[in-house]
Amino acid sequence: MKKISFLAVLLFIGFTAYAQEFTPQVQRFISVNSDLVAITNVTVIDGTGAPAKTNQTVILNKDRIQEIGEASKIKTPANAKIIDGSGKTIIPGLVMLHEHLFYTKPFENWFSVGQMTFTFPRLYLAGGVTTMRTGGSIQPQTDLNVKKWILEGKMTGPKMDVTGPFIEREGPRVPELGFLGNTDEVAKIVNYWADKGVTSFKVYNNITQEDLKVCVAEAHKRGLKVTGHLCSLTYEEASNIGIDNLEHGFMASSDFAEDKQENICDPFAARTGLAKENLNGDNINALIELLIKNKTAITSTPVVFEPYTGHEVVPGGGLDALAPQVRERIQNGYDSRVNRDEQSINLFNKNLKWLKRFHEKGGLLVAGTDPTGAGRTVAGYANQRTVEIFVEAGFSVTEAIKISTYNGALFLKKEKEIGTVEKGKKADLILIDGNLEQNIKNIRKMEIVFKEGVGFDSQKMFKSVKDQVGLN
Ligand SMILES: [Zn+2]
Repeated sequence: MKKISFLAVLLFIGFTAYAQEFTPQVQRFISVNSDLVAITNVTVIDGTGAPAKTNQTVILNKDRIQEIGEASKIKTPANAKIIDGSGKTIIPGLVMLHEHLFYTKPFENWFSVGQMTFTFPRLYLAGGVTTMRTGGSIQPQTDLNVKKWILEGKMTGPKMDVTGPFIEREGPRVPELGFLGNTDEVAKIVNYWADKGVTSFKVYNNITQEDLKVCVAEAHKRGLKVTGHLCSLTYEEASNIGIDNLEHGFMASSDFAEDKQENICDPFAARTGLAKENLNGDNINALIELLIKNKTAITSTPVVFEPYTGHEVVPGGGLDALAPQVRERIQNGYDSRVNRDEQSINLFNKNLKWLKRFHEKGGLLVAGTDPTGAGRTVAGYANQRTVEIFVEAGFSVTEAIKISTYNGALFLKKEKEIGTVEKGKKADLILIDGNLEQNIKNIRKMEIVFKEGVGFDSQKMFKSVKDQVGLN
């Protein structure tokens, strides 16, 4: 009897619906959940870098893209839910690789961060991110639970690739980080967290070459990747050791620091070296060549560096998301510093030009936000702003989108499933109310973010966490 009922349940699930189960807390953000969806007469920027195509019809069947092509040639199934895409644009769901479930929470002269378990996953999905890699975690166990509960339909957020706790030596940085006593600990950390389900690792400012060698060896043994926000090691050293990815564009490079001492982080010397290096300098060009040769990917995180030049206080428009007390602090900080850092502006622009060169020469450039810094970088809003910055820096709209979608998927080795809007791939895509090539800021007009064919209401998710960032 027991056996029969178990079988019956299986058959029932198999025949009635694909529809993933969602708790009411998640369901309230879902605006489209039909087995068949047809988005008609829409412009598609597919994430491959190909030019935008107008008058397209996209058919979603359960969690997959079933068909895509000219509206006149694609037959819309009679039982499909039809969404008129006139005047709208579809892009792939964003795949961003320097995300965090924590946010800046300074105290007196300390830099510190606090976990944003609830607001950030929801904001990421609202901002179009359907897959993300966290770029280091302060509560890896929380991040792993969030990942699992999102997959189970109990929380609202993107699919996640969770990075382990920062691998770091003690330095004058963040009290939430764990510090290595010696290199032997690295293998233990990597294997412990890999067993727990972590799929990436991140080394930080003060590690030694030996630490990185062990980290890379242990992670690679398990097919996992290592990225780094460096300072004590140069990009050249780390790339030659075999690191897979470098964070923050060239902004964290100490390669140009004068009298660089091995394994020592001197952020001021690093910054001075970057400022001195010419736009077309021999050193930067040699470094670009080396990174491409070694297949070291670079993550650009421009929003966290967006200087005080009269741009928005929270780039992407997320000021309302902040808890009032946090908003006040950040507004005050902004007001007292605006337009006073010429060097930051120059470096910001130069870094983007170097990254464009790296990209054009064939380097793998991926995107991320890093919602930390001065607290002006807020999940979701910052992801949209990242794409805008690429376009402002001279990348074409189609290239900016490819970097923010396909390239991330390629790095994560998920490019066969996600990263582009193509027949057979997962239905991870965003419906935007507007034309991105007319104005890239239309990317802020996201309507529906489809994750595996289920459509989430972007604006509703954004509104639901108003006044909460910094607290939850
Ligand atoms: Zn970060």
